Amino acid sequence: MTNKSSKVSGFYKLDLDKRLDFVKDFADLTKEELDIFSKGLDFEIADRMIENVIGSFEIPIGIAVNFQINGKDKIIPMATEESSVVAAASNAAKIARLKGGFTAECSDPIMIGQIQLLNIKDIAGAAEKILDHKKQLLELANAQDKVLVSFGGGAKDIEVRILDSPIGKMLVTHIHVDVRDAMGANAVNTMCEALAPMLEELTGGHVRLKILSNLANKRIVRAKAVFDKDKIGGDKAVDAFLESYTLASIDPYRAATHNKGIMNGIDSLIIATGNDFRAIESGAHAYATKNGQYSSLTKYYKDQDGNLVGEIELPIALGIVGGASNIHPKAKVCKKILGIKTANDLAEIVASLGLAQNFAAVFALSTVGIQKGHMSLHAKNIAVMAGATGEQIDRVAEQMKSENKIKLDRAKEILAEIK
Ligand code: NAD
Repeated sequence: MTNKSSKVSGFYKLDLDKRLDFVKDFADLTKEELDIFSKGLDFEIADRMIENVIGSFEIPIGIAVNFQINGKDKIIPMATEESSVVAAASNAAKIARLKGGFTAECSDPIMIGQIQLLNIKDIAGAAEKILDHKKQLLELANAQDKVLVSFGGGAKDIEVRILDSPIGKMLVTHIHVDVRDAMGANAVNTMCEALAPMLEELTGGHVRLKILSNLANKRIVRAKAVFDKDKIGGDKAVDAFLESYTLASIDPYRAATHNKGIMNGIDSLIIATGNDFRAIESGAHAYATKNGQYSSLTKYYKDQDGNLVGEIELPIALGIVGGASNIHPKAKVCKKILGIKTANDLAEIVASLGLAQNFAAVFALSTVGIQKGHMSLHAKNIAVMAGATGEQIDRVAEQMKSENKIKLDRAKEILAEIK
């Protein structure tokens, strides 16, 4: 893909065909690939994905523009039902690109599998025995997934943890698996199951659980951006932003909402690429407690010129092979739009998007408040809920906005007046 500019003003003003033309041109899509966006999921595909299928559930997919990540322009497909999320991300990206956009980096894609061993007499001796047999255990694990090993991945290390519990001491073996471009759950679970008999033999204990951990704290992505002081309203605006952020850094009640705002962006891309948003969510929130108290996944500070610097860090269990990412037709096209070659490429975009989303939310909160922007976009939904159709939707929404009364009862009154 050539590096075409993702900077567009007024993308929202374009009609559907013009938006699709832009995406087609940006990502060199074929007409067939583009047409996929106007189709629902085939019953046959859905029926293979889950059980008892009766159809599929559609949520809108929008394009966030203006992103520049590690020097490359990106447009980002976002599948979300929440209004103002896509606009907010695009806006944040527009501000970030003034100072070079986002820089992002990933660790190796190491996932953790856990094997729980119970009823061990000499637990310290058992732990030592496991570590003494690390080589054999890793060989056995790697024999389960020759494909993964052929790509440079596979089981890389073994750790043991002795845990106290209400039912006595237990020995938990961790296997660290480089899952390359996969999310890795199936690969890791298969390895955990394969190691269980050997671990029982080595320790004399018996295995209960054998499954990956969603606290993927060895698979970390980081992104950073500088937000121009003057563009966001000068020193006072930067200070107001930092005051707002500080609450999220010290208070779990605020941190939960702050992180939810991050996940507004992250989940929408995770869904658009056919990834498992529950895995990303559980990993992110568990990681947010890493210093002993639930806290913000982002941090903000001023640089020497007084600009606002934002950083994000979170675990990132996602893939571009496996799961639904290679099955769902829209997910396949979304990956092409993103121009990614590896799971780490995708992770870097995910983290940048999460940071953009968080910046946009905190910026709105620390200035005009979130409701103004949010409710203004939400007005159309309320108009529809009141029963407006066609042109009525805009008329009802505009009237409610001009009165600053975006409420269902008012929408119904205006609709009755129009009719
Ligand atoms: P998978 O098993 O479908 O695909 C991964 C496999 O693809 C690898 O094991 C490897 O053999 C092969 N492969 C081919 N090319 C590869 C490359 N370049 N890099 C890496 N592997 C390559 O998928 P998975 O990622 O192991 O599992 C993901 C799915 O598991 C998700 O859909 C998730 O919802 C589900 N899941 C999640 C959990 C959890 O999060 N706790 C538990 C169970 C299942």
